[in-house]
Amino acid sequence: MNLTKYDKIITANWKMNGSLALIDEFHEYFSQNYHINNLGNNMLIICPPFPYLQSSKSKFSKFHNLFIGSQDCSPINNLSITGDVSSDMISDIECDFVILGHSERRILYNENNEIISKKIHNAFKKKLNVIACIGESENERKNSKTYDIINDQINNTLINDCNISNTIIAYEPIWAIGTGIKPEIKEIEKMMKYIHEILNKKYNLSHNKRFKLLYGGSVNPDNSKEILKSNLIDGVLVGGASLSPDKLIKIINYNN
Ligand code: PEP
Repeated sequence: MNLTKYDKIITANWKMNGSLALIDEFHEYFSQNYHINNLGNNMLIICPPFPYLQSSKSKFSKFHNLFIGSQDCSPINNLSITGDVSSDMISDIECDFVILGHSERRILYNENNEIISKKIHNAFKKKLNVIACIGESENERKNSKTYDIINDQINNTLINDCNISNTIIAYEPIWAIGTGIKPEIKEIEKMMKYIHEILNKKYNLSHNKRFKLLYGGSVNPDNSKEILKSNLIDGVLVGGASLSPDKLIKIINYNN
C-alpha cells in the first residue's frame, strides 16, 4: 500500500474490547458523522479483536479511507498451533494491517524482538502492512535508557523487507499507555527526530523519504489536536478513546 500518499494516520486499537453491538454502534454513528470532507487525505485504521475482524470489514469498508487491521499474527508457519491466527487467515478476510510488537504483548507474553521479527516476516508474506510498536518503560526512562531501547527495538525488530510503503512505526512510551499521562509535545517531537535518524541510517533513505511515525499513549480528543498538528508526527495510535465513536470522530476531525 502506498502509505506515503496519506496525510495523518489514525489507528484505533480496541485491544480485548468490542462486541457485535459496538460494531453496530460505530456503524450507525459513522453513517451520520463520518464525512469525507472532514477526513481529507487522512486514513483511519480500526483494529478490533480477531473474532470481530470480518464483521468490522464488512460494515466499515464502505467508509472513505477506512481500513481494518488485526492486533497480532502468529510468528509460526505450517504447524498446528492451538489458538494461533496466521497472517494467511488475516489476509484471507482482506484485512490490510497488523499491529505487531505492542508492549502489552512484549510484557505479558514475553514477545522479544526475534519473535516480533518473525511475525513481521509472516505479515509481509501475505502482503499485510505492519504497524510496529516501539517504546521504553518507565524504569528505562528513569535510567536514561530510552534512546538505547528505541535503537535496539528498531534495529533488532524491523526486517530488511520493511519499507516506507509497508510499515508504520508507532512510538508508544509504555508509561503513557492507559495512564492518562502524556509526554510534552516537544519530547515526542524530539523522539520522532531520533527515530527518523535511526530509520534513515538503517534503510539508507534519502531526506524526502520518510517512514510514517505515529505517537501512542493516552491520546484523547483534548490532546490530539496538538499532536496531529505537528509536522513531525504522522498520526496517532489510540487505545481507550478509540472505543467511543464520538471520541474517535473528534480525533479524526482535529482540523475543525
Ligand atoms: C494503546 O493501546 O496502544 C494505547 C496507546 O492505549 P491508550 O490510548 O489507552 O493509552
